[in-house]
Amino acid sequence: MTSAIVRISPNQFQRKLHLAQSRQTLGVLGRVCYTAVTMQRYKTLLLALLAGLCTVQLAAEVVDGYDNDKPFPAHKVIGNIYFVGTEGLGSFLITTQEGHILINSDYEQTVPMIRASVEKLGFRFADVKILLGSHAHADHMEGDALIKKLTGARVMALEQDVPLLQKLRPRGEPHPIDRVLHDGDEVKLGGVTLVAHLTPGHTRGCTTWTMKVQDGGKSYDVVILGSIGLQRNPNNLGYILVNSKEYPQIVDDYVRSFKVLRSLPCDVFLAAHGRFYLLKDKYAKLGKGGPNPFIDHAGYLAHLDLQEKAFKARLEEQKAAAK
Ligand SMILES: [Zn+2]
Repeated sequence: MTSAIVRISPNQFQRKLHLAQSRQTLGVLGRVCYTAVTMQRYKTLLLALLAGLCTVQLAAEVVDGYDNDKPFPAHKVIGNIYFVGTEGLGSFLITTQEGHILINSDYEQTVPMIRASVEKLGFRFADVKILLGSHAHADHMEGDALIKKLTGARVMALEQDVPLLQKLRPRGEPHPIDRVLHDGDEVKLGGVTLVAHLTPGHTRGCTTWTMKVQDGGKSYDVVILGSIGLQRNPNNLGYILVNSKEYPQIVDDYVRSFKVLRSLPCDVFLAAHGRFYLLKDKYAKLGKGGPNPFIDHAGYLAHLDLQEKAFKARLEEQKAAAK
């Protein structure tokens, strides 16, 4: 883990404090995703804001060599699907003649990078008509209100994530939700149909999106995985599997989600974090004359295997500890 002393503005402080505390909680191996803010954090933040500019020790938000804050080249993935996220955060633009669908607004601070990527690809940010998300954690959906303000897009989310989304309030504004979706619902625009699959565990409403894409005269099944990951640090209270008071059905949900994910046809594997689908390795192969590197059914199954193994190991650990 790298760290540095930096000076930041009060505006940046809330998010940076979030990162620093998340790091502390997760440990070096900690997997990402940060949830609602504690009262203690607000107290600390208030003190910090009163003090004006502050100096804090930060850890960069880098997991497995993927930096959530680092810009990454916008690129066409396949057909009408484009990558517009950062090195660590997966955001996808699906273009149509009637406007575009964006999946994942990321942190509010990421929004200008997403916008720049959309425009670099030659599309208008204002043409984003529908905004979807992977799950109700700040690194994927904190920027919803800002993107809605900039584009007027309709924000849609699965019902099970709504309570958590309502806690994502950068600048204190309510989280916009224009349409509440249910498992299996379709989102349609300009001839594109996305299907919302409830894949809970990581959050109660964690959403995996699927669609079909045409490219080079062929049709491909696309899976945009919402996350099936756990956080590895056993001290992290967010993902207690055994006897969880906050989320009693978490184990059943994970088991069900692995089953659902394995049942989805998948040619093109994309996800809420680039590291899940090895974005950097695949991007390096683009335009080198070989097959499209994002067509990777085996990589999808390998990722599910990896995460399921981690889930089972963690479950056994916690069962043993509970005896
Ligand atoms: Zn998450």
